[in-house]
Amino acid sequence: MQPATQAWGFAAVRLLGTVVIGCGVGWLFGNPWVGLAGALALHLVWVLMYLFRLEWWLRHRSYADPPDPGGVGGEIIAQVVRLHRRKRFHKQRFVQLMRQLQRSTAALPNGVVILNAQREIVWFNRMAARLLNLRRTGDLGMRIENLLREPEFARYLARKDLSNPVVIRQTTPADSYLSLQVVPYGDGQLLLLVSDVSRQMRLEAVRRDFVANASHELRSPLTVISGYLETLSHDPALDSDLQGPVAEMRRQAERMTGIIRDLLELSRLEETGEALGGEPIDVAALLALLRKDTVARPVHPRDIRVRVESDAQLIGDEPEIHSAFSNLVDNAAKYTPAEGSLEMRWWVDDDGGHFAVSDTGMGIPAEHIPRLTERFYRVDAGRSRSTGGSGLGLAIVRHVLQRHGATLEVQSTLGSGSTFTCHFPPGRIRAFRRPVTTVSA
Ligand code: ADP
Repeated sequence: MQPATQAWGFAAVRLLGTVVIGCGVGWLFGNPWVGLAGALALHLVWVLMYLFRLEWWLRHRSYADPPDPGGVGGEIIAQVVRLHRRKRFHKQRFVQLMRQLQRSTAALPNGVVILNAQREIVWFNRMAARLLNLRRTGDLGMRIENLLREPEFARYLARKDLSNPVVIRQTTPADSYLSLQVVPYGDGQLLLLVSDVSRQMRLEAVRRDFVANASHELRSPLTVISGYLETLSHDPALDSDLQGPVAEMRRQAERMTGIIRDLLELSRLEETGEALGGEPIDVAALLALLRKDTVARPVHPRDIRVRVESDAQLIGDEPEIHSAFSNLVDNAAKYTPAEGSLEMRWWVDDDGGHFAVSDTGMGIPAEHIPRLTERFYRVDAGRSRSTGGSGLGLAIVRHVLQRHGATLEVQSTLGSGSTFTCHFPPGRIRAFRRPVTTVSA
């Protein structure tokens, strides 16, 4: 039998014994009811005393030994002691876990800040305190925007997609570059991850300066070489055996000039941050100009169409947008045979403005598409070189689009053609509507 069942049986027997003895003693004195009432009253006093001891012990159980009344009371106390031990064990485990968590977050090389749904600081680790100059006394409960006032960070927080970290420059406590990324979790809470990227940024600046300086230094001697080669190629006294090599040298010098021009443009784009504001650009006029330039190429696709489906203007930096669009149109013209077709299209919808260049050229194998916008990345180096490509055009396009908050989408089928689409956010569009116009070559 279970000890609890046994104890309850014993209690019932004791109560019955009390009733019988009470009645018996009462009967001896002539009134069994008075005897019963007296016995029950004594039993009640005993139960109350027992409850008093139990309650006293529950209040002082952290240092007092449990009473040992046996029976049902003993069972209750044993249960309470078990529950208490279990609770103490879980509490100790929880405290240990918290200590480990605190030690590991303190050892993290990156800063971690927990923000609530109102973006107020709830907790931060030691590295976050060091990198962001946070103080436990004054900064807990402060909104993060009030402590990090850099405009890049405010723009980052306003974005829908927070997966790409933002880099900000801090001048206090020391001149440093910090990478900040917000990761949403739980019920509207946010985790702010902070890392010091000063070293990477300095290395990147050294690389950029080196490329810019080297390109700059190469430009002058190359201009001299190209000038002499041009003079030489027009010299009637030039030996006929040398005409071919001189023409090839001119072509290569032109290619090098193109590469240096593109490298300088990339360096300039990389140096400055996101292009803010900008001027309204008449996209229809820009596409008409691009069409004229393409038609003027010695070899170009026979059919060149421009479809302007909206006269909405694009807000941006005109020379940069011109350069990006012209790189895309140039590529389509370069990699499409003369009997092929090329189409430029501009349209606006709820998602923003879109510029697409489609061609019926050679297309690009799917595995190359994700890497196309890397510097000097070419699908086929030989073919690109023969068309005078530097491998920098799409890198320039990517930078220009990034500075305008836009993205590039590439769709291509090998052997059938490609479509390169630039998607601009609605904030970059000044919208009007006009009927569709189509211009053909
Ligand atoms: P390049 O100056 O060599 O054209 P880009 O950066 O402009 O360099 O383009 C990178 C590579 O992408 C090119 O070498 C080419 O192989 C491929 N490419 C770009 N546009 C097209 C296109 N419209 N059709 C086919 N291939 C293309």
